Amino acid sequence: MLKIAKFGGSSLANHQQFQKVKQIIEQDPLRKVVVVSAIGRRDARDAKLTDLLYLLHAHLMYSVPYEPVLAMIEERFLEIKEALHLSIDIKKQLLALKKELNKQISLDYLVSRGEYFTAQMMAEYINFAFVDASELVFFYFDGSIDYEKTENAIRKAFQEHEQMVVPGFYGVYPNGAIRIMARGGSDITGSIMARSLSATVYENWTDVSGLLMADPRIVVSPKRIAQITYEELRELAYMGANVLHEETIFPIQDMNIPIVILNTNDAFNPGTIITQVGDDTTQVITGIAGKKHFASFTITKHNGSSKTKLMREILALFESYHINVEHIPSSIDSFSIVVLQAELDKVIYDIASSIKNRSDVKNLTIDQDIALVAIVGRNMVTRPGISGKIFAVIGNEGINIKMIAQGSNELNIIVGISNEHFEKTICALYQHLVV
Ligand code: ASP
Repeated sequence: MLKIAKFGGSSLANHQQFQKVKQIIEQDPLRKVVVVSAIGRRDARDAKLTDLLYLLHAHLMYSVPYEPVLAMIEERFLEIKEALHLSIDIKKQLLALKKELNKQISLDYLVSRGEYFTAQMMAEYINFAFVDASELVFFYFDGSIDYEKTENAIRKAFQEHEQMVVPGFYGVYPNGAIRIMARGGSDITGSIMARSLSATVYENWTDVSGLLMADPRIVVSPKRIAQITYEELRELAYMGANVLHEETIFPIQDMNIPIVILNTNDAFNPGTIITQVGDDTTQVITGIAGKKHFASFTITKHNGSSKTKLMREILALFESYHINVEHIPSSIDSFSIVVLQAELDKVIYDIASSIKNRSDVKNLTIDQDIALVAIVGRNMVTRPGISGKIFAVIGNEGINIKMIAQGSNELNIIVGISNEHFEKTICALYQHLVV
């Protein structure tokens, strides 16, 4: 039995947070592999260490004096080192880094130093071995992960050390150069560790007690989601409910390793468990999420022309402008292309005229005031009448539904409404379907 414990930046923001991490690790001897992000924000106005490193790089590139930024970075590390009486010579390490600072320095290398130093400090503090991600996570030159090499290295390191702290967020190319992942990528490192060591569970420690059934900025005190499937999580995350990096589940998806979202500041809260299959069938709706500012192009074809051909060519048109098509609700003679408004900015007139000028198009209408709300729940499949209830709730609020889409896996129902009705729709759905 083995637990991978990954701690995000807010769980490492100062020495008090380090102390909480230590307590959590000491509470459970199965927590043998710890993955850390870089030191995060202490409060909303604070900067993440990673952001400071990006800033430092920008200063170098534009030849602006960078010492104040370096001093801020040093101060964040020193606060922890001194309060916890660590022996790591962070000043010396930063001085060595300073000597490497020039316009040629690799951005990836520089930015990865946040996780690198944070992991060293944590390793010393909890008395685990520090193992650098550059010895464990291997990328091909195209940026994909070389799993064979990575898994072998991780297994070997674990055999050797038994308890280790690994910096998240980066690995190396075949030539040894550091490659960082996308922002929030330490989640992925945790997942790679869980896969390579066939962990019993992957604990992702953050500053919220799991996922909530709706956005707390919209719904007052929404319930916690106790259990969610990988698939449902993807649907909700896509619609804006973000706690994990969206690629986190890929490395472990086929291994059925559960991920638990836990709160470093409330360590005994059970949080949310993310699994391949959900065995809890009591809750019909798992969550409600949504996004504003979509646009829809509704295209009606002329009688006698081919809808399939028209659809194919219109999709190609959107593709040629690099615009992602989000949904395509359709009827007998017409279909709508729903896209994010922000992607249309400069090209909407070009696209509209290309469509209008086609001889097989009878009519085009564009609606630039659409918000989408997704009601997600694996248990909706087996219960008839859910969609009826959803439409009734929205109808009773006097809100017009502009568009409906149901995923073919019946995992979600998506409704399109006016942007101004976004919050009201979510609240009403939550009130009637969840509470
Ligand atoms: N420190 C990196 C970031 O801020 C990676 C991570 O936190 O996962 O994005």
